[in-house]
Amino acid sequence: MDSLQRFLDSILDFVYPPLCVVCSRLLDNRKGYVCPECWGSIQKVHPHLPLYLETRNKLVVTEVVDELVSLFVFEKEGAFQKVVHSLKYSGVQAVGLEIGRRLGALLNEKGVQADALVPIPLHKRKLRERGYNQSELIARGVCEVTSIPLRSDLIRRKKFTQTQTTLSLEERRDNMEEAFACESSGVRGKTVILVDDIITTGSTIQSCAGALKKAGAVRIIAASAALAE
Ligand SMILES: [Zn+2]
Repeated sequence: MDSLQRFLDSILDFVYPPLCVVCSRLLDNRKGYVCPECWGSIQKVHPHLPLYLETRNKLVVTEVVDELVSLFVFEKEGAFQKVVHSLKYSGVQAVGLEIGRRLGALLNEKGVQADALVPIPLHKRKLRERGYNQSELIARGVCEVTSIPLRSDLIRRKKFTQTQTTLSLEERRDNMEEAFACESSGVRGKTVILVDDIITTGSTIQSCAGALKKAGAVRIIAASAALAE
């Protein structure tokens, strides 16, 4: 690095010191937005975790989702909530890529193979508000480390789904039904990894998976950065 670059970097560090988005500690290098201690403090999903088993059972029973791979447990007020908050509302898009790389490493570790990575699409209106789709950023990070092709073009959100939190489980299902349309015949016979940020009820991922299966996909693996109760 030449001295001019070093000089410019030191000015940038002075104006925008690189701080961990979770604990606000000064990061000792300019790589990343979360310090190693905070990454380490987030509870990981393991195969015997009740939340994982419950969510997986709920998804695979429908036979539209065949497998579930998740990285972290989403806890209210926990470190991962702060990480996701920085991604969703503070526009720290690099955090999405970093989460994706970690999710991709987990998929590699499990030997998961697939033909395409499909991020859960945001509705156009939300996309305009936020400027980017956080699931797509995560999928981009997954793509970097797994080399599975990223195919955001395969599925599209048809209608604007209102916020789900005030609805009953049944209402949520009705709300999500037919919410997605598969754009392409390119999924016939393919194994697809559906990438989401946080899976809670699983109704979004089921609806998306259903549209892909209808279009001929043979196997759907749901991959999420986190699981929430
Ligand atoms: Zn930290």
